[in-house]
Amino acid sequence: MQTKLFIGGQFVDGLAGGTIPVTNPYDQSRLADVAEARAEDIDRAVEAAARAFPAWRRTSASERGRLLLALASAIEANAGQLAELESRDTGHPIRDTAGLDVPRTVLGFRYFGGIADKVEGSVIPVDAGFLNYVEREPLGVVGQIVPWNFPLMFTSWKLGPALAAGNTVVLKPAELTPLSSLAIAELVREVGFPPGVVNIVPGYGGTAGQRLAEHDGVAKLAFTGSTVTGRKIVRASAGNLKRLQLELGGKGANIVFDDAELEAAVAGSAFAIFHNQGQACIAGSRLLVHAAIADRFIEAFLALARTIRLGDPLDRATEMGPLTSRVHQERVLSYCEIARREGGEILLGGKAPSHPALERGCFVEPTVVRAAPHHTVCRDEVFGPFVTITTFSDEDEAIRLANDTQYGLGAGLWTRDVKRAHRVAKAVKSGMVWVNCYKRVHPASPFGGVGESGYGREMGFEVMREYTHARSVWINVDAKLPAFYPR
Ligand code: NAD
Repeated sequence: MQTKLFIGGQFVDGLAGGTIPVTNPYDQSRLADVAEARAEDIDRAVEAAARAFPAWRRTSASERGRLLLALASAIEANAGQLAELESRDTGHPIRDTAGLDVPRTVLGFRYFGGIADKVEGSVIPVDAGFLNYVEREPLGVVGQIVPWNFPLMFTSWKLGPALAAGNTVVLKPAELTPLSSLAIAELVREVGFPPGVVNIVPGYGGTAGQRLAEHDGVAKLAFTGSTVTGRKIVRASAGNLKRLQLELGGKGANIVFDDAELEAAVAGSAFAIFHNQGQACIAGSRLLVHAAIADRFIEAFLALARTIRLGDPLDRATEMGPLTSRVHQERVLSYCEIARREGGEILLGGKAPSHPALERGCFVEPTVVRAAPHHTVCRDEVFGPFVTITTFSDEDEAIRLANDTQYGLGAGLWTRDVKRAHRVAKAVKSGMVWVNCYKRVHPASPFGGVGESGYGREMGFEVMREYTHARSVWINVDAKLPAFYPR
């Protein structure tokens, strides 16, 4: 297991020699002590990335793509180990890390490997006699800061497009879950990325993260994390006016209309909130259910939620693992208290499981709360296996409730009426909308939010614009320039 900082193609200790303890959230065992990057290590990493940039931007796009495709294959070849490492570090069930996280990481790197040599410029029809062309240029050194909820998959979302576009990268994983990104660093070296093109520097947010966000040598910072930290990043980045891409929190509305296919809506809504223990920015954490079907829907939803198997993340039968940290478990449980205090009705869960086999883990039972739109639990992002249910009586009310949030990341709706599907999809304030499904993501489709969920887009062709700037070049082919200063 790799535990050192990856800077300039070498695995090195932090200059101050500090380490970060990494704990398994299922049994509290110490998995590793990982070298801690502090401000001076971030400086070293940015310098290494800056040194690597001139040659990397000149490297042909096809060669950059080849290296990304080789990285995808290397990840595929190590799929089993990576899935296990991710499960130990995050608590995600192995059926998810092996069945979703690793394959999606491979898919991501393949997509961006493929796109590298397809980022074309354009020729613009300007005044006669001039040739004006626009080419997409890399930005330089890109800083990337990611959270702990999908640490492996986020390496492909972040590194993939930045490298394909010709930037060099300094990526800071979350202090809670740095192991899979360090494993990726080993593969980056193995497949032959030039030293300094990729640098991976685990460190704490307030020190390493802050330094990366304020660093004058960083041309762009791509951040995924909470809205609270997003605001700090905006302030820290003001010094050199670096470009920002912010993927922040969410409070996804998931609307079930009275004509929905009930069974599909129940199963899809359970996946929307309980997958990954609800630790997803796009989780469907606010269920809005038409009053006419509310009783039937709730009964079936609770019946399904009761059967979700909590357990050891490494057990193939486990469907929900622990939350990723004790602090986070306590935070989610505190929302159960808030819900009770504010008059919410806890229909299921609302506590840590009492089973002795689960006592050491940071578990929270699947929790379903009937709540009113003004309740704190309908407004704050809880980021756990915690869903509120609110009823509505017509389409306008459903849209009004869905949009009653400062966030705007993901939203879903379940209906058999194709006209309503399009109408509502257009009316919800959200970067992504799913109809009769939830939480679909693919590297070819843009991902990102509006409002306080941030700005900029990951993935799809959109993201290649985020990691490049448009340079416009004018050539006087045969134009006679007007004599501005006749002599
Ligand atoms: P967080 O904001 O606490 O931390 C995210 C990252 O930022 C970590 O690497 C952390 O070390 C770093 N950080 C913390 N303080 C910093 C500072 N002052 N300067 C620079 N970096 C700093 O978020 P979290 O608790 O790790 O993750 C959960 C949050 O992430 C949720 O709000 C969730 O919705 C959001 N999220 C958003 C998306 C998206 O694409 N929109 C995806 C996943 C998670």
